[in-house]
Order: sequence, then structure tokens, then C-alpha cells
Amino acid sequence: MDILLYPDPRLRAKNAPVTSFDATLEQIARDMFEAMYRTGGVGLAAPQVGVNLRLLVYNASGKAAEKEQEHVLCNPKLVFKSREQEPGEEGCLSFPDIRGQVTRPIKVKVTAQDLHGEPMELELEDWDARIFLHEFDHLEGILFIDRMSPVSKSQAKGQLQDMVEHYRETQDAS
Ligand SMILES: [Zn+2]
Repeated sequence: MDILLYPDPRLRAKNAPVTSFDATLEQIARDMFEAMYRTGGVGLAAPQVGVNLRLLVYNASGKAAEKEQEHVLCNPKLVFKSREQEPGEEGCLSFPDIRGQVTRPIKVKVTAQDLHGEPMELELEDWDARIFLHEFDHLEGILFIDRMSPVSKSQAKGQLQDMVEHYRETQDAS
């Protein structure tokens, strides 16, 4: 399972709700964790692997051995976000060499379904809230460059242009 890189249009496509809580879904989630650990990430959204479903996975430890920290969220909904926000540095597996400052709420309440379709409720803070919000954005077709501070965005400008050019070259070649 490969991770799509910016500006692949599937990163901006609409994501359908998960409706089949079956073995295929479980396999997709498993493959997403593998791709995430392999590339040193802490979260991954299904559109990043070309699956346009409202599905995200994360493990705040980033360690495959810490299974108890693995979360799979199907059809997540943001039911509360704190007015209080904080800037923090983020990266994204669809932008391997870019990091930047993004300001986000420090607390969120989330509802979602697990791999069996069972409802769950989560209250997340700080780093966990940041990971969730970053991945949740992916399900809305929003990328972290859309929320990056103007300074970070201008620092990344050259790299972003290189990524667009590289993507065009790979498209022309195929
Ligand atoms: Zn991302």
C-alpha cells in the first residue's frame, strides 16, 4: 500500500461514509497501519492511500509494538472543539520533507464507529487532539498546508512547487 503524495487529486476527492464493516475494511485498516509505521508516521487517513472512505487510523506513539495505542475511527464526527488553540509543528506523510506550524484547538470530543460499526466516543487533548484533527481534515479534503502559518507556508513554497512538478512528470510518463 503506497502513500499518495501531494498534489494527487485523490487527496482532495470526496470521501464516502464507511458502510461495510467487513473483513475488507479490517484489511485496509491493517495495511494503513503498516504503511504508517513503515514511513514513520503517527496517523494516516484512507484518502492518503487512494481509498476515498471516511476512515482514519492513528497511534500517537508511532510504534508498531504499542498496539494498545492504535485507534481506528470510521465515520468520525467532531462534536466539540475547544475555543483555546495552540500552534504546533506538524508533518504529513503526503508531504514527506515538509514541516510547518499549524494552530489547532487543544481539546476535542469525537464520535465514531469502530471496525465492527460499534459507536464510540473519545475526548482527546494536546498531541492526540492534533493528530486526530490533522487526519480528520484529510477526510474533508483539507491538507495541512491549507492551515499552515504564513511563515511556514512561504518557507515550504519551493518544495511544494517541486512536488507539483514531480507529480506532473510522473503523470506524463505514465
Ligand atoms: Zn496528513
